[in-house]
Amino acid sequence: MTVVEQQALIAPHGGKLVDRTGPRPEGVDRLEQLPLTSRELSDLDMLATGALSPLQGFMSRHDYERVVEEMRLERGLPWALPVCLAVARPPQGDQVALTDESGRPLAVLEVDDAYEYDREREAERCFRTTDEAHPGVARLFGQKPFYLGGLVTVFERQEPPFPELALDPADTRSAFAERGWRRVVGFQTRNPIHRAHEYLTKVALETVDGLLIHPLVGETKSDDVPAATRVECYRVLVEDYYPADRVVVSAFPAAMRYAGPREAIWHAICRKNYGCSHFIVGRDHAGVGDYYGTYDAQLIFDELEADELGIEPMFFEHAFFCRACGQMASPKTCPHGGDDHVFLSGTKVRELLAEGELPPAEFSRPEVAEVLIASYRD
Ligand SMILES: [Zn+2]
Repeated sequence: MTVVEQQALIAPHGGKLVDRTGPRPEGVDRLEQLPLTSRELSDLDMLATGALSPLQGFMSRHDYERVVEEMRLERGLPWALPVCLAVARPPQGDQVALTDESGRPLAVLEVDDAYEYDREREAERCFRTTDEAHPGVARLFGQKPFYLGGLVTVFERQEPPFPELALDPADTRSAFAERGWRRVVGFQTRNPIHRAHEYLTKVALETVDGLLIHPLVGETKSDDVPAATRVECYRVLVEDYYPADRVVVSAFPAAMRYAGPREAIWHAICRKNYGCSHFIVGRDHAGVGDYYGTYDAQLIFDELEADELGIEPMFFEHAFFCRACGQMASPKTCPHGGDDHVFLSGTKVRELLAEGELPPAEFSRPEVAEVLIASYRD
């Protein structure tokens, strides 16, 4: 990538793309071995690649405290959610080896800080609830009692779940620069894309150079549609309905936190690191159940100055096909009533698909619906 091209894309959060990969140091096997949870493994990989720039490791107390209270890192930069490593007790040495669930060492952490934390307060501030029925709160309340902060060096990366879609921030940035894109909109999704989401992404794409469809493939709750099925949906949809030279599809390795508004900011900052200048925020982004108001994930962006966030959120309404308009629309663009709108509840869609029936073409592309029907048969 030339210097000129690099300047054309948005700068990473904090100004520089972090790279915390490095060679395997001597004596790793003699260090205390610390197995990470699935979410912590996702975070570790994102620390390695700079997806969480400017973070260079799991958060020490000062960053953690200020993030929880003020949505800022200690140095003042906006940051929405803790990126922490929970342990049973402070380690003995000043280095520990971080391993996957099978005990294979992946990284070394230089212990900077080990501190107790207040789960209730973190839940209240970050999730806006302490209800244990909330999946993010349940995970937090089940965590070990200390956080371990410090710089990480990752010498062994986990095999990505979708190797053909595995692009690190440096890779997406190269891909955008090669295509000559400067303004790129990122789309976060953890669901199959139906017509409504296709519409949002295309409306956004009308005003920028390129689109990054960036499905989250880290851990989700068990009733979300499996990542493999979703990935196949994106593949068939993009192949048939998007111009190939305007879209990049890649996997976002993060685990879902279900923190709603704060996660919307966090998702936006991560996509800035991947090179996106814009980010789509729909209704109830990263929400779960009815813990968050419909527009909370959009309103929270008002708490930050636009120039300190850098990436620009693009807010969208719920979209639908309107028979009277004869096209996709939203409450912002359609004057007609609900009778003209093709709307199916999530429950209704699942019923149809489970029966092997295609939802109306105004709601779902048949190619996408076929993938979903096939997944129900397995
Ligand atoms: Zn209409």
